[in-house]
Amino acid sequence: AALAWRRARGRGRWRRAAEVVREFEEGCATPVARLRQVVDAMVVEMHAGLASDGGSKLKMLLTFVDSLPDGTEEGTYYALDLGGTNFRVLRVQLGGKGSLILNHQVERQPIPHELMTSSSENLFDFIALTLKRFVEKEDGSQHHSDDERALGFTFSFPVRQTSVASGVLIKWTKGFSIEDTVGKDVAQCLEEAMTKRGLNMRVAALVNDTVGTLALGHYYDEDAVAAVVIGTGSNACYVERTDAIIKCQGLTNSGSMVVNMEWGNFWSSHLPRTSYDIALDDESPNPNDQGFEKMISGMYLGDVARRVLQRMAQESDIFGDTPQNLNVPFSLRTPLMAAMHTDDSADLREVKTILQEYLHISDVPLKTRRLVVKVCDIITRRAARLAAAGIVSILKKIGRDGRTKGKPRRTVVAIEGPLYSSYAIFRDYLNETLVELLSEEVAQNVILKVCEDGSGLGAALLAAAHSVDR
Ligand code: BGC
Repeated sequence: AALAWRRARGRGRWRRAAEVVREFEEGCATPVARLRQVVDAMVVEMHAGLASDGGSKLKMLLTFVDSLPDGTEEGTYYALDLGGTNFRVLRVQLGGKGSLILNHQVERQPIPHELMTSSSENLFDFIALTLKRFVEKEDGSQHHSDDERALGFTFSFPVRQTSVASGVLIKWTKGFSIEDTVGKDVAQCLEEAMTKRGLNMRVAALVNDTVGTLALGHYYDEDAVAAVVIGTGSNACYVERTDAIIKCQGLTNSGSMVVNMEWGNFWSSHLPRTSYDIALDDESPNPNDQGFEKMISGMYLGDVARRVLQRMAQESDIFGDTPQNLNVPFSLRTPLMAAMHTDDSADLREVKTILQEYLHISDVPLKTRRLVVKVCDIITRRAARLAAAGIVSILKKIGRDGRTKGKPRRTVVAIEGPLYSSYAIFRDYLNETLVELLSEEVAQNVILKVCEDGSGLGAALLAAAHSVDR
C-alpha cells in the first residue's frame, strides 16, 4: 500500500510539473489577434518616438545616415564592432563600382567579463589596443603611418547622435554597465584611446549594428529598406521619410534618414508577460528597460527557460532534490537551450547530456526530457512570433504591409544574429508568423536576407562613404 501511495504521489507531482509548463504556455500565448495588437501598439509608439525625444519608450533615434552604400565605394577601411558577446575588428577592401567587397579579414574576441562593468577608460583602451595589434598585423609595411585612416565604429547601444560620426551614450544594455561612459561621446572616447596607443585613425562613421546591417544589405540589394538584429540583444532600423520625423525638422535637407528604433525597449500591455519575465527583469541590471528584448534575444531566452525549470523543480520532484545549478542565473545559456530544442534523437540524448553537464540534473526519464523540450519550444516560439510582429510594424509604418493598392513591392529586410541565422526552429517560426500576419502574396515579396557580419562590414562601407565628404 505504501508503494502504491508513493507511486500515486509521484504521478501527482509529475502532473504538477506538467501543469507548471501548461500555465507557462498559456501565459506566452501569441494568437494572431494578439500579435496584431502588438503591431498596432508598436506603430503608435513609432509615431510618438518620431515626434519628440522622450515621446515614447521607443526611442526612434536619428542616425544622420541619409544615403546607403551602393557599390561604388572604394579603398581599404577598418571597422570595430562592439556590442554583443564578442568584439570584432575588420579590414575591408572595396573595389569600387561592380566589384563589391574584394576581401575582408575579421578577428573575433570575447570581451573580458570584467571590462563590461569596469571603467570607460579601461574598455576603450582594450578596444584601441586590440585594433592596433590587428592593424599592425594586417597592414605590414603597406601604409605610411602619417596618413590618417577612416574607421567605421559599430557601437550597438542606444546613442543620441549629433552627426554621422559622433553621439553620446544614453544607456547601456545587454549586461554592460559602466557608469562613467553614459553621457559621453563614444566616438571621442575611442579616438582618445587610439591617440594614446599611437594609432592614427579617426571615426568616420559611428553606427548601430542594425544600421551597419542595413548598409550591407543595401550594398548588395537596393530594395533593402530595414534591418533587424536578433543576437545577444535585439533591435531594428529602417529608412524613414524626413517629413515623417517631426523631431528632425531643420536638422537635415535630405528626403530620408535611417532611424534606429531601439525596439528592444518597446513596451506594451499586449505583450504576453509571465511571472518569469517579471522576475528576470527585476533581477537584471536594467529593470523596466528593454522589455521587448528580454522576451526575444539571446542574452535572456536561456534564462527564462532556467527559471521555468527551477519552478518545476520546486513544485515537483521530477529533477530529484532541487539541483543547485538551477538557482544560478544564466547557468543555462541560450545556445544550450537551442541545442536541447533541436535535439532530434529518439531518446533526446543531447537534452540528457546538457541537463547533466550544465545543470547537474541526472537520470531524467524521457517523459521529463520531453517536457524540457516543450519549455524551450514555448520560449522560442513566443520570441520568434514577437520579432515577426516587430517586422510587420515597420512594414506597416512604411506602407509595405499590403494595405496600399497595387502590386506589392519587393521589400528586403536585412537580418543578422544567430537566433535567425543559426537556429532553424526560430527562423521557421518567424517566417511562418510573417505569412500569418501579412497575406501570402505580400509575404512572398518580403525577403529576409541574412547579412553575416553585416554590422561590421556595413560600418566599413559607411566609413568609406563618409570619409570622402569630410
Ligand atoms: C541595443 C541596440 C542593439 C541591439 C542588438 C540592444 O541591447 O540597445 O542598440 O542594436 O541590442 O545588438
